[in-house]
Amino acid sequence: MFKAFLIKYAEIGLKGKNRYVFENALRDRVKESLDSVGDFNVSREQGRIFIECPEVYDYEEAVAALKRVFGVSSICPVAVIENNDWESLTKGVGDFVETNYPDRHFTFKVEAKRADKKYPYTSPEICIEMGAYLLRRFPELKVDVHEPSVRITVEIRTKAYVYSIVIPGLGGMPIGTSGKAMLLLSGGIDSPVAGYMIAKRGVSLSATYFHAPPYTSDRAKQKVVDLAAKVAKYTGKIKLHIVNFTDIQLYIYDKCPHEELTIIMRRYMMKIAENLAEKEGCLGLITGESIGQVASQTMHSLAATNEVCTMPVYRPLIAFDKQDIVEIANRIDTYETSILPFEDCCTIFVAKHPVTKPNLKVIKNSERNLEEKIEEMVETALNTVEVVVVG
Ligand code: ATP
Ligand code: MG
Repeated sequence: MFKAFLIKYAEIGLKGKNRYVFENALRDRVKESLDSVGDFNVSREQGRIFIECPEVYDYEEAVAALKRVFGVSSICPVAVIENNDWESLTKGVGDFVETNYPDRHFTFKVEAKRADKKYPYTSPEICIEMGAYLLRRFPELKVDVHEPSVRITVEIRTKAYVYSIVIPGLGGMPIGTSGKAMLLLSGGIDSPVAGYMIAKRGVSLSATYFHAPPYTSDRAKQKVVDLAAKVAKYTGKIKLHIVNFTDIQLYIYDKCPHEELTIIMRRYMMKIAENLAEKEGCLGLITGESIGQVASQTMHSLAATNEVCTMPVYRPLIAFDKQDIVEIANRIDTYETSILPFEDCCTIFVAKHPVTKPNLKVIKNSERNLEEKIEEMVETALNTVEVVVVG
């Protein structure tokens, strides 16, 4: 059982104050991710995050948690060698091999990294001498410097660390290093993936769901709450705003040409989401739109929807094919929930032949029919938002 982990992160672009913000955020996110697994001690350590494990813990669970932390480039279960003098170092590395590899009929290579450049041996010397030591202690080992089956890495710092397993992390930036954005979260496949992708750049998420009871059921709403919880496994807490959109939809249905319904409805969704985003201190909106996927996502439709917002709208899936989106949805475990067959509010009010090239002038003209009551309805929708915090 490993008593510690060394967490590596990409250092590109990490300078001055950014570096310190990134490292502290990463340390905190790593710590939070492990909170439900056990009492781990997490600290910053010369370009790495160091995790000391409790006496007893579930290794698989700890690794699974660390694999969900943005900003981690790799996860290395390590043995710590308290003193970095040569004798302790060789003995420590030998013990590591003995404990972790009961059957030592394999090829290996030693790799060495020195943080302490004053160390009496250079990295190549450490590799050669350590290799020789291991061969003397375990004659069944064989060296292969080109394609070893086991790479034994020794990092020499104030203490020394030895590892041979490198588990890839998610990459990206730790949550909390890039502000907050409002995700328009539906029950579909795309929007949870879109939220995940933006969050991966360090952005924390709030979310808004437009609910249209009784046309959309409580089960459809629960599905969105469940999806938010799945995304929150990566992002931490998400404050989900559930907007009752029924009256607005019915009003648009009543007053506007049916083929323009989806576009007009989407314009109001964006307006309301932007209003909530401002209140939440968000710096942008996120949607799961992708060019040409449906009538409401042609370039013309996107332009018409976009026009109501002044806040930037992030659409990370804009150039993705559906299959590629499904792949990510599967990987982040939202797909199975997304395909549960509950109606969403867009499907109920869709026209048989929606406009695919909406003309903004025409749309705005139709929206005049809403002048009498729409502001008040938007106000009511904003005042009756139900908030659910997930994660
Ligand atoms: P998704 O799979 O994310 O539902 P979609 O392919 O069904 O997307 P649309 O229904 O046109 O596409 O929605 C486009 C985007 O608008 C969604 O990705 C989402 O960001 C937002 N959206 C749509 N419906 C809702 C809703 N009921 N509540 C919140 N956001 C919504
Ligand atoms: Mg949808």
